[in-house]
Amino acid sequence: MDPSTPRADPADELAALVRAAERLARRAQGLGRPAGRAPRLAAIQPAPGRAGAPTPHPGAEPQQRAARPAAEASAAVAASATRQTRPAPPAAGGPQRGPRPSQAAPSAVAPSTRTAPPPTGPPPTAAVAAAASTLDELEAAVAGCRACALCTARTRTVFADGNPTARLMFVGEAPGQEEDAQGKPFVGPSGQLLTDIIAKGMGLDRAQDVYIANVVKCRPPGNRDPLPEEKATCAPFLARQIELVDPKVIVPLGRHAGTHMLQNTASMGRLRGQVVQRDGRAIVPTYHPAYLLRTPSKKRECWADIQLAMAELAR
Ligand code: SF4
Repeated sequence: MDPSTPRADPADELAALVRAAERLARRAQGLGRPAGRAPRLAAIQPAPGRAGAPTPHPGAEPQQRAARPAAEASAAVAASATRQTRPAPPAAGGPQRGPRPSQAAPSAVAPSTRTAPPPTGPPPTAAVAAAASTLDELEAAVAGCRACALCTARTRTVFADGNPTARLMFVGEAPGQEEDAQGKPFVGPSGQLLTDIIAKGMGLDRAQDVYIANVVKCRPPGNRDPLPEEKATCAPFLARQIELVDPKVIVPLGRHAGTHMLQNTASMGRLRGQVVQRDGRAIVPTYHPAYLLRTPSKKRECWADIQLAMAELAR
């Protein structure tokens, strides 16, 4: 510093420093503030009566007020949808299985594309079966039959086994896998048990003394039960078979054969143990051999039924 330069008053220098510091402080405040937005003290002041409570951003309050009815409306719609999609409480006595036909929503399917009602009158096989004058003709008709959907999955039709002049006829429900492969009813384990019942129980010969057939002549896929319409379509073949064989005693094996022969939907336990006279023949239902293999305790009841059948044969 030049010694000739007069020294400034220390008080003035201090005042200038203070002013400079204040300017810097104001500038620093201005740099930390968002551009173009003046500070709004009201935004950081507690709301009257809610001292200490956090106050949301002033711009958010109207939005929250506007969003609240929307949220409430959404909740109401959701609750309504929940009510609509929640399954109705089950009706007394059983589960709810959906609307009754009269309550169902109108179908969008045009009437012309709806499933046609089941045909009434005799099945298409009735005339074919009636036209067969011998068992050979009937077997040929069955072999060429395509009257129901079971024809598409069969390997071959299964017509009969045994003696066509026998006085005792066994009737099963439908071919299984092995019957479908061999074209012969009651082969495999259940067939062996039937053979034992005939030979060891009744003292008869399966090839000479009995005739064996099924209600349905083609194997249902997967060994499922034959459907009512399949049984109805195939029924004329069995009816004509019985006419041509003309047995004295018929033993239906299992529920499907029993209910078909007796036209009675009762359980096998109720159908068996009796002799029912139909068209001059004795009908004596009993358990299917496959069921006996699964439930050996029922063999005693089956043996009682077989004794009833033998008594009818001896009349
Ligand atoms: S199950 Fe009877 S009706 Fe059906 S295709 Fe076979 S033979 Fe014909």
